[in-house]
Amino acid sequence: MVHSYDSLLAAVTEPGGRAISDPATGETVGHAPRLGGDDLERAVERARAAQPEWAAKGHAERARLLRAAADAVDESAEALARIITREQGKPLNGPGSRFEAGAVSTWLRAAADTELDEQRLLDDGSATLRYEPVGLVGAIGPWNWPAMIATWQFAPALRMGNAVVMKPSEHTPLSVLAVAALVQEVLPDGVLTVLPGDRDAGAALSRHPAFGKIMFTGSTRTGAAIVRDSAPNLPRLTLELGGNDPGIVLPDADPAAIAEDLFWGAMLNTGQTCACLKRLYVHDDIHDALVEALAALADKTPMGPGIEEGSALGPLTTREQFDVVDGLVEQAKKSGARIVTGGEPDREAPGHFYPTTLVTDIEPDAPLVVEEQFGPALPIVRYTDLDDVIGRANALRAGLGASVWSADRERARAVAARLEAGTAWINQHGAIHPMIPFGGIKGSGYGLEFGAEGLKAVAVPKVISG
Ligand code: NAD
Repeated sequence: MVHSYDSLLAAVTEPGGRAISDPATGETVGHAPRLGGDDLERAVERARAAQPEWAAKGHAERARLLRAAADAVDESAEALARIITREQGKPLNGPGSRFEAGAVSTWLRAAADTELDEQRLLDDGSATLRYEPVGLVGAIGPWNWPAMIATWQFAPALRMGNAVVMKPSEHTPLSVLAVAALVQEVLPDGVLTVLPGDRDAGAALSRHPAFGKIMFTGSTRTGAAIVRDSAPNLPRLTLELGGNDPGIVLPDADPAAIAEDLFWGAMLNTGQTCACLKRLYVHDDIHDALVEALAALADKTPMGPGIEEGSALGPLTTREQFDVVDGLVEQAKKSGARIVTGGEPDREAPGHFYPTTLVTDIEPDAPLVVEEQFGPALPIVRYTDLDDVIGRANALRAGLGASVWSADRERARAVAARLEAGTAWINQHGAIHPMIPFGGIKGSGYGLEFGAEGLKAVAVPKVISG
């Protein structure tokens, strides 16, 4: 069924529910169902009832249904993109909500197409390893890429024969309900349930003994709470947590050649991406030329309501996030850092727009450098000594991504090998691919998503020997 924006929104909004506001204007977009009481219990019962039959369908049939679900998403992709933009704020174009709606079907197809064969552990075939369903998978998601990240969680889990109960962020439930409404057109009842709710609903899910696996994407603090709350039940966990990704630019890099990729590495989704470049270290030799090139890009990249086709950057999704970015930049100003561009938001405007901001001559341990800003304010730190800057890059608890920028790939790879991060990119930042495993280390969590590793993470290993 091909949905319009209005029909898809009507399918997920509940009159009298909790109002969801557009971060660009403050207008109400729709109303999220208010759940509570025994809704979680009912979802668990439905999932328990549906899961054995779903598992019994086998890989080929589940993969066929996931491909059909991807087709259903594609048919209504424009409607989904508009809901994401109105609710979360990202622009329709560029790496925005049309890209995100496309990623939903891409990752559904990837989950369907990835092979995970039984492994022969000994040459004579007497010992094998295979992956079986966990049973029920619980998922808790963030607000920055709500539809795409929800799909990263539920698509592999369904492929492996599990039933999923998912709690989206309280800021972006409509996008996730919309994805679910589309895929539920082809999936059996009960295998995927979305339960909107706040942090207490997330905590209730993490405490529930029904889940053999919990997938969480969000802040490091919440990840730690989920570990504590779920501990009595010992579920398997995948924790994709916050990052504070460093980028190191070596002196041989060409500022003109790398500026645009650097800019989008930092400003993707207006900086609200876990694996955005969040602190940039530039060698003294090219520091000024690179700052100038980045400032020119910042000044010419239009920021505005995501629903306007010309916008390339949008608002911050929440007022809380606006305040975090504003506070970190104000602290930087007070400590004498230089604002190259931006840094002067209109705090009275109804939308949460924070201007694209570049900050230089900043102390390497300033809060804007060492805390996750999650917004369009990039600190740029000048360096001269490579060992020293690698030490700084590795000094924080965060360990999601990192990048090295150089004209010499081998030299960049040698530096990348020394960076403490789940992914170290070369001359790019934040690039993801459904077949390349993605995950953090240190305070950025543990567990891998995507590819065969991602399928294993939502299954239980079983050895048959003898
Ligand atoms: P958050 O931790 O505030 O919220 C995430 C989800 O957890 C929400 O659904 C929320 O309701 C729920 N929650 C809150 N408290 C809970 C609790 N005690 N128990 C269970 N659930 C609880 O994070 P956010 O602000 O929505 O997202 C931004 C953060 O997520 C950033 O730090 C960002 O870097 C990180 N992130 C990481 C990745 C990744 O792949 N590593 C991807 C996207 C975002």
